[in-house]
Amino acid sequence: MIDSKTREELKQKLLEEKKRIEENISKTEISKKGTDREYETAFPEIERDQEENADEMEMYESNLAIDESMKLELEKIDEALSRMEKGTYGICSNCQKEIPLERLRAYPQADTCLDCQK
Ligand SMILES: [Zn+2]
Repeated sequence: MIDSKTREELKQKLLEEKKRIEENISKTEISKKGTDREYETAFPEIERDQEENADEMEMYESNLAIDESMKLELEKIDEALSRMEKGTYGICSNCQKEIPLERLRAYPQADTCLDCQK
């Protein structure tokens, strides 16, 4: 089992990572057209003049991809934090074995062991 000191340390890591990702997400969202618009509403506007906006579209798509992966990470972090609350943190969600501490230190939001991740 993970002792409470280590768990606290990992929790801090998760919270820091969460903050970092949230800051990054808001940056890419500001760089997109309109500051508070959803993707769905911003999309047709970009499509209207396709050739001129080809570059912009590429940027938009890569921003989207970055946003998506960051949001996924955020979800994982939130899940890891809630597993900490429930006391199931550090257990592989697939094989139920303990996730090695080295892996958790390197990637605190991990919910599977390396074997199961493959
Ligand atoms: Zn496993």
